[in-house]
Amino acid sequence: MIFSDPRIHALDQLYAVYDRLTDAREVACKKFCAVCCTCNVTLTSLEAHRIIAALDDNAKQTIREKLKNQLERPRFIPKLTINQLADICVKGEDPPDEDMDPAWGACPLLDDNACTIYDDRPFGCRCMTSVQKCSDTGAADIDEFTLTINHVFLQTIEHIDINGYFGNLSDMLAEVWTGINAGSNPLHLIRNAPLSALLVPPEHREKIQPILTAIRAIRM
Ligand code: SF4
Ligand code: SF4
Repeated sequence: MIFSDPRIHALDQLYAVYDRLTDAREVACKKFCAVCCTCNVTLTSLEAHRIIAALDDNAKQTIREKLKNQLERPRFIPKLTINQLADICVKGEDPPDEDMDPAWGACPLLDDNACTIYDDRPFGCRCMTSVQKCSDTGAADIDEFTLTINHVFLQTIEHIDINGYFGNLSDMLAEVWTGINAGSNPLHLIRNAPLSALLVPPEHREKIQPILTAIRAIRM
């Protein structure tokens, strides 16, 4: 049973630490606010397993049908994981150009402006914590320190799923359903990388210490 997997337990605790940070702030992001819910959302295979394990049979069937259509359409297909990106930044190299357009359409898990897996949404969605509604301002307004926190959590989640993959939500759910560990390289997914350097700029290093302490207290 996947919920007995210690990595899922660690993931749940990471979500809980992050959600407490969000609850302590005034943020505009709520269920039914869905401008940011595009088909470009990414996640790790661990998060995908967790999402699928929480679905009932009807939800599974509905999402499978939606994925069939989505996989025929353009969507963001990342070239790097967040930890690979961090390693490139540490070396002072330029990351590759990536294609992403919000106009490619809505997330297949969105239904009538509501996320159908809201309580189990991946960290890439959970970390959208804008102080203003995108519908008012045209874009999310997330301060630099929160972006640093987000990177640290994304890097940590990738690290605890070190034998897994990173990719677009649609590709990932489709691959997890068909057996991601079957031996061949899954189409459009990237192997996760270990966390070797946190993406924390010098001006945030002291302020982020209590959060790093809370993360380190989680058994992974
Ligand atoms: S990021 Fe913008 S669209 Fe997404 S939930 Fe927050 S305010 Fe709403
Ligand atoms: S998983 Fe849910 S919160 Fe995330 S983009 Fe899709 S509909 Fe939005």
